[in-house]
Amino acid sequence: MEVIRAISELKASRAGWQRPVGLVPTMGYLHEGHTALVRRARAEAATVVVTIFVNPTQFGPTEDFGRYPRAFERDLALLESEGADVVFAPAPSEMYPEGFSSWVDVEKVTSRFEGVVRPGHFRGVATVCNKLFNIADADRAYFGQKDAQQGAVIRKMVSDLNMNLDIVVVPTVREADGLAMSSRNCYLNPRERSAAVVLFSALNAARELHRGGCRDAIRITGRMREILSREDLAQVDYAALVDPDSFEELQSLERPALAVVAVRIGSTRLIDNMSLQN
Ligand code: AMP
Repeated sequence: MEVIRAISELKASRAGWQRPVGLVPTMGYLHEGHTALVRRARAEAATVVVTIFVNPTQFGPTEDFGRYPRAFERDLALLESEGADVVFAPAPSEMYPEGFSSWVDVEKVTSRFEGVVRPGHFRGVATVCNKLFNIADADRAYFGQKDAQQGAVIRKMVSDLNMNLDIVVVPTVREADGLAMSSRNCYLNPRERSAAVVLFSALNAARELHRGGCRDAIRITGRMREILSREDLAQVDYAALVDPDSFEELQSLERPALAVVAVRIGSTRLIDNMSLQN
């Protein structure tokens, strides 16, 4: 496994890669959710490139960029054991040199939910992903369903800007009690960790109502909010039913929908989602 820090070095290495090239963008501190992406890439691509980059431009000024967890050596060992071919781990100054001034702004889908609570977040995400797609010259890039709105933003960018790669979305990997795996789960103390399962409980209740034939969005969101409100430590940012591509809120559920939640548990913000299929 090659570990590369410089874009020029990556481009030199790229000349010898077998295609298709599968790219897995991450911010490191890897867990089984990331592993699922790497395994899928390993199964489908001849060359698997994993990027580890805590992207400063997708963090707001009051967010956790400075304290975002890092475990580079452990990540490398994991990726080696999963059979990754290349790890690209640039410094921020390599990705955003002095004078950097071009940004990708995906409209509409970014104006809702995460885009409202985290202004500028998706501009940073879209820009860094576009850069990584170009740097790796990837044929496919792998993203987790866990960050569903991020996936929708990336799909829209790739489609609108005619980028030459396929986006593959991999199902959310969960802990035994249902909590979606996330690098940020390490911020939770034991009491908060037990409370955090409430996101999964609310989403499950939405799925159960939907499976039972309920198509009333107000009733389903009401049930999600009721479950979330029972947990004292949970502060709800949103709980809604949305179109999986546009993230427009749905009033009726005659087509596939996504139940989405964002909740703060203490000072940790967690997001999760579940698809409601007809
Ligand atoms: P991150 O390192 O948090 O930026 O995540 C890197 C990629 O892993 C993103 O595409 C995430 O959606 C994906 N991911 C994170 N957590 C999970 C999970 N629990 N299951 C599946 N994919 C995940």
